[in-house]
Amino acid sequence: MNPITVIGGGLAGTEAAWQIAQAGIPVIFYEMRPTRFGGAHHTEHLAELVCSNSFGAMASDRAAGLLHEELRRLNSIVISKADEHKVPAGGALAVDRGVFSQDLTETLASHPLIDFRREELREIPEGIVVLATGPLTSPDLAEDLRRFTGMEYLSFFDAASPIVVGESINHDVAFMASRYDKGEAAYLNCPMNKEQYLKFWSELRDAEQVELKGFERENAKFFEACLPIEEQARRGEDTMRYGPLKPVGLTPPSTVGWGSDAPPPEIPEGEEVKKERPYAVIQLRQEDKAGKLWNMVGFQTNLRWGEQKRIFQMIPGLENAEFVRLGVMHRNTFINAPQLMIPTLQFKSRPNLLAAGQIIGTEGYTAASAGGWLAGTNAARIALGKEPLTIPNTTMMGALFDFISSASPKHFQPMPPNFGILPDLGVKIKNKRERYGKYRDRSLEQLSVISEQLTVSSEQLTV
Ligand SMILES: Cc1cc2nc3c(=O)[nH]c(=O)nc-3n(C[C@H](O)[C@H](O)[C@H](O)COP(=O)(O)OP(=O)(O)OC[C@H]3O[C@@H](n4cnc5c(N)ncnc54)[C@H](O)[C@@H]3O)c2cc1C
Repeated sequence: MNPITVIGGGLAGTEAAWQIAQAGIPVIFYEMRPTRFGGAHHTEHLAELVCSNSFGAMASDRAAGLLHEELRRLNSIVISKADEHKVPAGGALAVDRGVFSQDLTETLASHPLIDFRREELREIPEGIVVLATGPLTSPDLAEDLRRFTGMEYLSFFDAASPIVVGESINHDVAFMASRYDKGEAAYLNCPMNKEQYLKFWSELRDAEQVELKGFERENAKFFEACLPIEEQARRGEDTMRYGPLKPVGLTPPSTVGWGSDAPPPEIPEGEEVKKERPYAVIQLRQEDKAGKLWNMVGFQTNLRWGEQKRIFQMIPGLENAEFVRLGVMHRNTFINAPQLMIPTLQFKSRPNLLAAGQIIGTEGYTAASAGGWLAGTNAARIALGKEPLTIPNTTMMGALFDFISSASPKHFQPMPPNFGILPDLGVKIKNKRERYGKYRDRSLEQLSVISEQLTVSSEQLTV
């Protein structure tokens, strides 16, 4: 059988190569380290954890924990080694990073069906290929990918605004409208009075920022196109009010949460009631098909996560906001997956090319491993003449791949696993933990429904 090529020995590529080999198909597995380093990696091991040693919360009623559990049930090599090499970390699945990566390197390199080559691949080859070269894909390969996807569909940096769960927004304060009522009411708007704005502005101006890493400072030109919100605040008191916080054309239906406390003036008979105008307005744009997630427009930021939460919760309507993702600005190569891919992780224009990991716009170690699992499994299924799997979107894994292939291509930004991307349960459950528990139960039940299809790969365990 012709071998399948996997490019990139990070979390996604390692999982993909393993799943393919376990299905009995030979793999040529390329990793460019140690001949070339992207900037964030320091070792020559596979599946190196570039920063934290944690895969996130372990409890299965947490988004990361549910994804761990799904992967455990799907025989993921990455999660099984993480479990084996875990270290005490409160409620998180954290690992001894050196032993974890070394074990995975030895396990994959000794697999008889894996031909492990420490080489940089500069072009996407023919045949069945899994691309998993991560956020710091080498420049030549990125250029080839850009030729394949089209200029505008490959990004080199991620300047993302925070994303908020719709249910956590106070809708008595935030109101739906488009500026000057043009078109349908498409934005959620959080109005502010002058006092609220000035307090918000001064906190933002003085907030603590994340330091750019060495390789990111070298690539600072990537960030020039997108001014962080805190930088706008530093440029002057009114800069944001002439930018993303422009209040014109947006009239709130009520003054709840932002209006002055003074009683409204007496209106002489015959005169029209003049509505109070906000001093500034923060807009949130719908992020997903179902309207469960909302993106803070123009709030790309480099602030520390604690600072973001503290300051953005000062915005009227967002006092109890639950953030599924906070803002980031960093070097990140990723494709416009909604434009280019389907939920099986195949490219629309070339079904024998699959991709996984940070490069398709999922975020985090566990999500990369999940992508590697699906891309590897589907690459093997294509080689075996079987239909590629689509994982139901009622699972965390399926919801993630459904999101990245169906989000708005125009505003696409990477997404971590979170409960906001799962379809509604159909019943209202106020208690968050209880609600997440129900999501978990539904997901794991659903996984067992597709297990018949999945046994196809496990039946073929040849090693
Ligand atoms: C500085 C930084 C810090 C991060 N911190 C965290 C964190 O704390 N927690 C978290 O969950 N996520 C973090 N991330 C995101 C993290 O990158 C992903 O979660 C995860 O590593 C993605 O896995 P991946 O397999 O897609 O990419 P990677 O793990 O980056 O793996 C890609 C691999 O492909 C190789 N490669 C690239 N180009 C080629 C080529 N042309 N030929 C052959 N090999 C190639 C690279 O050397 C690399 O080994 C961080 C990212 C960065 C950049």
